[in-house]
Amino acid sequence: MRGFWLLLVLVAAAYADERLFIGDQVIRVNAETEEQIQLLQALETQEEWEMDFWLHPVSTDLPVDIHYSVLINNLQDLLDEERAEMQENQMNERSTKSFNFGAYHRLETIYSWMDTLVAQYPNLVSKQQIGKSYENRPMYVLKFSTGGNNRPAIWIDTGIHSREWVSQATGVWTANKIATDYGTDASLTSLLNTMDIYMLLLANPDGYAYTHSNDRMWRKTRAVNPGSSCRGVDPNRNWDAGFGGPGASRNPCSDSYHGPSAHSAIEVKNVVNLIKSHGNFKSFISVHAYSQLLMYPYGYTCGSVPHKSELDAVGRAAVQKLTSLYGTRYKVGSICNIIYQASGGSIDWSYNMGIKYSYAFELRDTGRYGFILPANQIIPTATETWLALKHLMEYVRDHPY
Ligand SMILES: [Zn+2]
Repeated sequence: MRGFWLLLVLVAAAYADERLFIGDQVIRVNAETEEQIQLLQALETQEEWEMDFWLHPVSTDLPVDIHYSVLINNLQDLLDEERAEMQENQMNERSTKSFNFGAYHRLETIYSWMDTLVAQYPNLVSKQQIGKSYENRPMYVLKFSTGGNNRPAIWIDTGIHSREWVSQATGVWTANKIATDYGTDASLTSLLNTMDIYMLLLANPDGYAYTHSNDRMWRKTRAVNPGSSCRGVDPNRNWDAGFGGPGASRNPCSDSYHGPSAHSAIEVKNVVNLIKSHGNFKSFISVHAYSQLLMYPYGYTCGSVPHKSELDAVGRAAVQKLTSLYGTRYKVGSICNIIYQASGGSIDWSYNMGIKYSYAFELRDTGRYGFILPANQIIPTATETWLALKHLMEYVRDHPY
């Protein structure tokens, strides 16, 4: 027996430093044109992609072999697991008559949970319908307010891209956290004694319903595009901020189709109307997934916003709080500098509207599961994100403008 353990230790030691290649693949590409060779050469020089060229792109006569690692081997396996888990949770919730914050839910379930929350905390939480979606689903915001008339407010939306499920789930957890912590958490209580918080948990309700019924990978709205058989507008390319510029597509079949005109998506227009008619928002926070980033404007240009140094410092401090819980690492920067140039985004619009503290989150993970983040990561994700959100909100409270 001692020999066995010794062997195990030796094997473990041998493997500890050894690089493994489980799931890696090597593909052979046969370029047919000089242009394709040039594209492959461009790919090879993209260092951040870390592709390992075994045979370099030289000419159309020679094959190109590329070694790369595979993130998800069979996406359908992950989707099947996710669905099975959701169904099991649904049965549990029915039999226990409770709501599990560590699970993904359908639109109807989230909407009825919102009513429960309002009923539980009538003096703090109210539900406002801001309009309807393209397919006539109501769009609701939860308003957290302890009174006053049109107090300065903080906006948080989740799920504008429907497939980013941990965003909506984090929104639900966060709404509950705000309601339960008011009156016990001194800082949040003082915040809500001077400011209101508005949360739009399902910013793209049609898309969200569609991710459950038809296509888990659906990102856009479900608007019909005249003259095209492809549906949907990317609701985060549709805002009146550099509309139609780089990083948005004019092709209705593209996942980043900007739509026929700014604010053409009714889901976007509904938010624009509320923000404008309210007129006293001090912060606008939009929550996406995935990549672990905290971003500020701009996306439509790589030029800096006037408040860049302040937004950067506040963002870094917020992320430090987030990381302190489980060590989840985030990057901070402007959208254009940290991911890519993207026009027509919501926080560029809100910033240009004068809402200085405009931020966008990309939550967990960095690609191991991508959009199919396992449900057991919902509560850890929401809990760590809350620390960053709280930091941002407290800063806004302490820096009136
Ligand atoms: Zn997104």
